[in-house]
Amino acid sequence: MDDIIIIGAGTAGLTAAIYGQRAGLSCRIFEKFAPGGQIVNSPSIENYPGMYGVSGYDYSMALFEQAQKCGAVAEFAEVTGIDFSGKNKKVMTTAGEFEAKAVIIANGAARRKIGCKGEEEFEGRGVSYCATCDGAFFRGKTVAVVGGGESAFEEAEYLAEICDKVYLIHRRDIFSAAKTAVDSVLKKKNVTVLTNSVIEEIKGTNAVSSVVIKNRANGSTVEMPLSAVFVAIGLSPDNGLYKDVLKLDEYGYFDAEEDCKTNIEGVFVAGDTRKKHLRQLVTAASDGAAAATAAANYIRKNF
Ligand code: NAP
Repeated sequence: MDDIIIIGAGTAGLTAAIYGQRAGLSCRIFEKFAPGGQIVNSPSIENYPGMYGVSGYDYSMALFEQAQKCGAVAEFAEVTGIDFSGKNKKVMTTAGEFEAKAVIIANGAARRKIGCKGEEEFEGRGVSYCATCDGAFFRGKTVAVVGGGESAFEEAEYLAEICDKVYLIHRRDIFSAAKTAVDSVLKKKNVTVLTNSVIEEIKGTNAVSSVVIKNRANGSTVEMPLSAVFVAIGLSPDNGLYKDVLKLDEYGYFDAEEDCKTNIEGVFVAGDTRKKHLRQLVTAASDGAAAATAAANYIRKNF
């Protein structure tokens, strides 16, 4: 039996593992994809204290290595079930069943989809959720980025360097991305920003060849030829597995405060999966430290 099982190897989970191990507790991390979480796709991190211009991939690998150097064990397996009813918490995974004195859920949030016609049909054939993964396939082509937050501007910035033309399509005329990111993209000659606009349909035969864009201000539609659509409209939580036992808020995020404690003793939540105002690396790291410290205190008192 481990002291702490950590679900998710993003910034929150790996920080929790570092703090847990340094508190003298054995931590086992479960990750179904690769270490790093959402940030692994960011070309450059510029807002994490003490680090400037490090790629999301390099940052993720360094953090993963740090957690392992502290003694944490990583399992690349998916969590398929939980039983939090007893003092020892059970976690069922594709690598078997595991038990721990405490559990920290740091499973992040999944990429949101537009939900328009053609999005699902052309996923992997011109519809992408990651410019650094797929951008190179569209070198010299015309592409669109959907969204008005940090991710959309990062994607547009990256694609502007390799694509002939980039349209940034945003449903409102106000952006939630930082002003520096917006200004930098607006300066690029091959980027055109279409505000108050939504994609109604993604069209093509074998691959994407055009999109139908609706202007929300005047109701007009236009079909625009292009080769790819990069969707960067944020995240939504994936907490269905826990909904019967742990409290979720109206949007499906875990309803837990800054102390990361849930309604079940010995179960903690950390990072983007928890309800919060600001989802950033720095807040995910903060949650990881808080959750591991709370778990350590709980274990000391109860075992
Ligand atoms: P976000 O900040 O939640 O922004 C989502 C954007 O997509 C908003 O502009 C939103 O428009 C739009 N949107 C949402 N649903 C839509 C829909 N169905 N159709 C069209 N547009 C839609 O998402 P994000 O930029 O992916 O960022 C997610 C979190 O990660 C944020 O907390 C962000 O700060 C963080 N992040 C941080 C970094 C970094 O630190 N370097 C990098 C990337 C992301 P409205 O404004 O109209 O709602």
